[in-house]
Amino acid sequence: MRVAVVGAGSIGLAVAWRAAQAGADVVVHDPEPGSGASRVAAGMIAPVTEAHYGEEALVPFMAESADAWPGFAHELEQASGLDVGFRDVPTLLVGLEDGDRAEIDRQAELYRRTARQVETLTGRAVRKVEPLLSHRIRGGILASEDRAVDPRAVHAALLIAAERAGVALRREPVADLGAIDADQVVVAAGCGSARFGSASDYPVRTLNHPVRTSWMLPVRPVRGAVLRLRAVGDQPTPRTTVRGYVKGHSVYIVTRENGEVVVGATSDERGFDQSTGTAGAAYDLLRWSIELVPEIAEYHLAEVTVGFRPGTPDNLPLIGRLDERTIAATGHYRNGIALIPATAIAVAALLGDDESAAPEAFDPRRFGNGESAETDGRSLNEGTAKRLAEPFSGAPESILRTGSDIPSGRRSRGRSDAGDDTRHTDAEGAAP
Ligand SMILES: Cc1cc2nc3c(=O)[nH]c(=O)nc-3n(C[C@H](O)[C@H](O)[C@H](O)COP(=O)(O)OP(=O)(O)OC[C@H]3O[C@@H](n4cnc5c(N)ncnc54)[C@H](O)[C@@H]3O)c2cc1C
Repeated sequence: MRVAVVGAGSIGLAVAWRAAQAGADVVVHDPEPGSGASRVAAGMIAPVTEAHYGEEALVPFMAESADAWPGFAHELEQASGLDVGFRDVPTLLVGLEDGDRAEIDRQAELYRRTARQVETLTGRAVRKVEPLLSHRIRGGILASEDRAVDPRAVHAALLIAAERAGVALRREPVADLGAIDADQVVVAAGCGSARFGSASDYPVRTLNHPVRTSWMLPVRPVRGAVLRLRAVGDQPTPRTTVRGYVKGHSVYIVTRENGEVVVGATSDERGFDQSTGTAGAAYDLLRWSIELVPEIAEYHLAEVTVGFRPGTPDNLPLIGRLDERTIAATGHYRNGIALIPATAIAVAALLGDDESAAPEAFDPRRFGNGESAETDGRSLNEGTAKRLAEPFSGAPESILRTGSDIPSGRRSRGRSDAGDDTRHTDAEGAAP
């Protein structure tokens, strides 16, 4: 089978690697591999502290992926010869003031409800786990299932592993999926995926005539800034990942073995604007993180980076079949690094015709947008989908689940109170 993957971020490369391992002939298309969110991400693998109200459907998939990470990291390191910076360290979630601690209690309730393991600790106990925490912190919770990895190292390793498995890389953008010569196409273009989701004609081989697709990929860029700092000489760094609320603002601190400390992240929506607001973002992230871990003030500030999370209307990813030839693996929003192993497994299974491989909640057609889907001028939205199925009895049901046929899913507005977020300036507002 000839598989084309559009996008060489971490998701696209992991999918390509797994597909090549399964025997497919894989080509990845990307003008600038690793130029997207995968380069910016902090690298938290956080099935516990990334659980949010309204996003419960994500929790089991996050947990599955987190469980797969140790084996995935090991295999990737063997295949590439690179260290991917995987750290099996817990997350401490702490709050500075009474309101912050109330927020943590609220979060802890959700973690317990979603069957995640958390332990409530006193101020003394949290400092025992993390001695660099400020003495003003009077308690928190320990999430032992959370982990972390270095996303830039993962991306570099995936490039090598995929190439060694026989994946070809074409450094060019894809403008039209129909122009790709492949049996199966996987759209994994992060924020660039939205361009592919409109009604368009392209041939579905088994039907021998063009099908007008009606799916869309409602991915939007959610901007985020992170800081990269470096401990100098023998300066101590946090042992755990520290997440906290400081006077209503959330901030996280992720430490690598090599002394890099990542502090994140802001969140706002201004299209693909990279050039504004970084001074304020850096100021906010520094003062909030220093309130939690005063030692941060002593580090070298190496980098302020802005990236774009591929957000979806309900904050859940888009993983699944779009039509007979096209699969979506995109919209991973705040958790695309955490979800690399589980997404790659799910897409490999979809390529192998296992339609149940991805959770239904991630069905990329759940936002059935009411556009009509036509074959030979007939609309599938006019209640004819089932009748049209008969002449194409060999065609999978997925082709026909368009328009009103699609389970609507949750159509909530895009949340802006993401757990890794500190600045909320988008129109929907809800600043914490
Ligand atoms: C500030 C910040 C912090 C984050 N922290 C975390 C974290 O701690 N943990 C976590 O799990 N996730 C985190 N994320 C989210 C994570 O980075 C993303 O979900 C993940 O990187 C998405 O990976 P991807 O491969 O889908 O997209 P990307 O990495 O964005 O890659 C998409 C690729 O597609 C290519 N492309 C686009 N259009 C086309 C086209 N037309 N043709 C060909 N190629 C194209 C681009 O060049 C790019 O290389 C964070 C994100 C941000 C911004």
